Amino acid sequence: MNVSDELRSLEATGIYRLASSRAAFLDPVRLLDESYRRFRLVPSAYYSRSFGPSNQGGDAQGVQPVPSPYRKKRKRKRQPKPRELNAVERIAEARHQEARPLLISAHKSLLEAKDLLEFLPRMIKGDGCMQDVQTSYENNFVELGSSWRAPLYETTLCFQKPHGQDEEGSCRVQRRSTPLFNKVISVEENDEAEGEFQSRLYILPKASCFLMTDFKHVRDLISDNFNNGYNLIVIDPPWENGCVRQKEAYPTLPNRYLLYLPVQELADPAGALLVLWITNREKLRRFVEDELLPSWGVKDTTEFYWLKVKSDGSLIGDLDLFHHRPYECLLLGYINANREAEPGPEFKFLQGSQVIMSVPGAHSRKPPLQKILSEFIPGPKPPRCIELFARELGSGWTSWGNEPLHFQDSMYFSEK
Ligand code: SAM
Repeated sequence: MNVSDELRSLEATGIYRLASSRAAFLDPVRLLDESYRRFRLVPSAYYSRSFGPSNQGGDAQGVQPVPSPYRKKRKRKRQPKPRELNAVERIAEARHQEARPLLISAHKSLLEAKDLLEFLPRMIKGDGCMQDVQTSYENNFVELGSSWRAPLYETTLCFQKPHGQDEEGSCRVQRRSTPLFNKVISVEENDEAEGEFQSRLYILPKASCFLMTDFKHVRDLISDNFNNGYNLIVIDPPWENGCVRQKEAYPTLPNRYLLYLPVQELADPAGALLVLWITNREKLRRFVEDELLPSWGVKDTTEFYWLKVKSDGSLIGDLDLFHHRPYECLLLGYINANREAEPGPEFKFLQGSQVIMSVPGAHSRKPPLQKILSEFIPGPKPPRCIELFARELGSGWTSWGNEPLHFQDSMYFSEK
């Protein structure tokens, strides 16, 4: 195989830029790994949905399930006759048609990158050691955090401190207990920590910070905002929608509650890039564009697309299927940023839509964006970043939500 510079770059940085289109392919595992020194994410655990029927409610991709001779033959459902689209659906369809050429061109350039296609199956399997992801043993932080016991729950944080003068490289473990819910917990700059809670272990990246609370307490983030605000704000809200599977995965919030998120107070007065994940529902899009973004002071919005592919490079579904598009949209815009100001060598304003492609992990888990967006983030480098409604932590990030430790469970990691 002829290994291109782009493939080397994917292996080193987690990003493969597809020069012939405004698109890039990401490996979230490599990107997330940058937050760890002693641990690494296990690819087969991150990409577990790619290996047959999932216990996480995901779809099997890549590997076909073996047909069981005992399985009853399901009656094929009769397809309902296609009905006429209503006025709102027609607007959504027009929006899709507008995005379609960009999405097709991105996917075409992925299919032309032969070295990348050949690499994908290896990328999702990692070194071949398959780690079992037993999600049934996980702690349910949403439930625990809403119980009357929540203020009483404590976690024990274990930090490895280098020994003073004696044996070189040896470490002593320091332990400290702290309330787990409704309290900002920070990990120091130099090494990751391990958090013990209810007989499970959580890997906490170096220089990460989290607050596990319900929406009611989201303003507690502001008193902790002592460094004058964040330069990258990523928000992936639990939008209300009719999808039953999503309801099982996590609780949703009425959309209008988001008007009360203290986004402006969290943004750096010198400028912040805001990224908002949205669904493909037209009604939601209208609320976001007409009310939500203006109320947060977000201007100059651009749309990006996350196109989801399988490990053989094909799309996870038909591009034109109305209710199940194989892509999600993210709106990006600026708060407190001055378009008239001269762009510096390390910052430029976003211009035009782009497509990000990756093999999806667990249900609703989004790819990490900081690196691919780095040149568009105003303010100091490295930027201060915050994720609202987070389910994982990262170095240099503050993560807030009712389950930010969800993907920090040690079953997703191995020791280096
Ligand atoms: N971006 C995340 C990822 O990549 O894994 C997914 C976020 S998911 C769309 C929305 C999150 O919001 C879920 O973790 C859900 O539990 C959380 N959530 C729902 N209701 C909440 C509430 N009232 N307060 C805080 N978080 C809430």
